[in-house]
Amino acid sequence: MIQFLDLKSVNARYKTELLQACERVIDSGWYIMGKELSSFENEFAQYCGTKYCVGVANGLDALTLVLRAWMELGKLKSGDEVIVPANTYIASILAISENGLIPILAEPDANTLNLKPANIEKLVTPKTKAILPVHLYGKICPMDEITAIARKHNLLVLEDCAQAHGSMLAGKKAGAWGDAAGFSFYPGKNLGALGDAGAITTNCDELYSVLTALRNYGSHKKYENDFVGQNSRLDELQAAFLRVKLKHLDEETELRRNIARIYNRDIINNLIEKPFEGESQEHVYHLYVIQTKFRDELQLYLEERGVSTLIHYPIPPNLQKCYQGMFNECKLTEEISCNILSLPISPVMPLDEVEKVCQLVNDFKV
Ligand SMILES: *Cc1c(COP(=O)(O)O)cnc(C)c1O
Repeated sequence: MIQFLDLKSVNARYKTELLQACERVIDSGWYIMGKELSSFENEFAQYCGTKYCVGVANGLDALTLVLRAWMELGKLKSGDEVIVPANTYIASILAISENGLIPILAEPDANTLNLKPANIEKLVTPKTKAILPVHLYGKICPMDEITAIARKHNLLVLEDCAQAHGSMLAGKKAGAWGDAAGFSFYPGKNLGALGDAGAITTNCDELYSVLTALRNYGSHKKYENDFVGQNSRLDELQAAFLRVKLKHLDEETELRRNIARIYNRDIINNLIEKPFEGESQEHVYHLYVIQTKFRDELQLYLEERGVSTLIHYPIPPNLQKCYQGMFNECKLTEEISCNILSLPISPVMPLDEVEKVCQLVNDFKV
């Protein structure tokens, strides 16, 4: 069976280093908010090219806490509108509605599947206060145009970088374009912990200050609470693991990009549309997503021949039960959700398996 993502093999490559990191934490006697976290925060901020990084418990909290902090700072208030892609993972939307803000769903560009600047402009109203672009599948959105729209209408920009660690546009990394960004280090992400973890990046001093309190009961100083905060911390053990894995992120991204290059070159079947990589864009291929009118047939065909594939995502947020009646119809997003299929890709996928997938996909007919 060709696995979609062999996580055991991903981490096995670093087992010695991970065990050393684990031992370092055990022996330190300090397990929450210590040296491993502050070192990781410095290293990750430097990697992204931002002034600050704040470690939190997961990617959803990273997004939720930024919006929450902007509310504390008076930059957002309950009922404000936040424009977000309609075809994203549910967490991007949950972060907005969780704060009493209103998600406004924007249809994507049919080719790139990322936010389309013209579709954002159409949705801006006097109540719009922020844009939440998602760098879906690892490809950065057209952030130059999106930040220009934000400046023009005085909107905040919160990047969802959960799938885009290290992705670049014009030499600038995901996480460094917006007023703030949320990252997830869920085990299957490009930079994955061995459990839940997340982080926020920003250049803003006052946002940084509020966030460091919000993640820790709303407190800067023990037993003094400035905000009604929560407990959303990135623990020392996961921070230590992430420091090991961050050192290898760029080489892993190269392995992903190499597989994508082979798929791009060798998949030739006119029933199938390959992903689009724009000029001066460094796609980090968290997922390699193809489109075909015969998606269900292709998925079954590959399954029967030993290739596991996944769909990201089969039910768009506007059709989810939890948001029933909340959103407009999103025709394009609904159509895309029936056409997309994610092929296996990971830093540990053997190249003969990649070739096998190409061969099978090329032989697919209806
Ligand atoms: C994974 C993911 C999240 C949520 O991250 P968690 O760490 O699982 O909470 C948010 N947005 C996108 C686009 C994701 O892929």
